[in-house]
Amino acid sequence: MKILLTNDDGVYAPGIGAIRKSLQGLGEVVVVAPDSEQSGVGHSITLAHPLRVRHVYVDGEFFGYGVGGSPADCVKLAVMEIMKGQPRLVVSGINLGSNTGIHVLYSGTVAAAIEGAILGIPAVALSLDVSGFPDLEYAAIISRDVIELLLKHDLPRGSLLNVNFPSVKRGEIKGIRITKQYTYSFEESVDRRKDPAGKTYYWLVGGREITVEEKGTDIEAIRQGYISITPLRYDLTNHELLEKIGCWDWGQLYQHFKDSTFLGKEV
Ligand code: MN
Repeated sequence: MKILLTNDDGVYAPGIGAIRKSLQGLGEVVVVAPDSEQSGVGHSITLAHPLRVRHVYVDGEFFGYGVGGSPADCVKLAVMEIMKGQPRLVVSGINLGSNTGIHVLYSGTVAAAIEGAILGIPAVALSLDVSGFPDLEYAAIISRDVIELLLKHDLPRGSLLNVNFPSVKRGEIKGIRITKQYTYSFEESVDRRKDPAGKTYYWLVGGREITVEEKGTDIEAIRQGYISITPLRYDLTNHELLEKIGCWDWGQLYQHFKDSTFLGKEV
């Protein structure tokens, strides 16, 4: 069984090393990860530049492939070129920093897992909150159990799991919660600064403080010391709204621009 392992913190990040070690013996783990940090790049892909791949060695041993691109690039390249076929599973992480709520949308870690789902491969994104007492080694051990359970049950097409570990000492994890994504914005700010030439520049300060309480969410779970497991899908269609906006006057709108065009009038 082949497992593709990637991340957005880069091929040399401690999180990918920890999960690679933990997955030993489960299958053939192939690391294809960005050669530099790609946190926050979301689902970007590289179109304007060539993608270079190089062999990465850690402590004199072959570790994996470093790609000069985004996490989504890595998954595409791994499946189409490096692995020459579909792996059984795509694992992305372990990211140092939680990927909850809207951060899911900015996350390169989650994007890599989404890319796996797009290619029809079961996928899991793994992230560890680092605000308190993060234990990467323990998160990696539990991740293996999560992955083994996922392999037993599988996922419907287009789906992936987003796993977040709380930032608590290993004896203090309270349990596992199946959660939904927090949907409100976080408190954020922009730092306005001056460079040595006196010119203004800005720095986005990514806040983690929530703006509205929402029950049953990923962020609530990790804040309360639980591991959060959120099923995600990349289909962004709002299925509840399909019928509702279907009742709007689309026919009249169509008739309006159709008539206007025939009469040579402005729409
Ligand atoms: Mn990251």
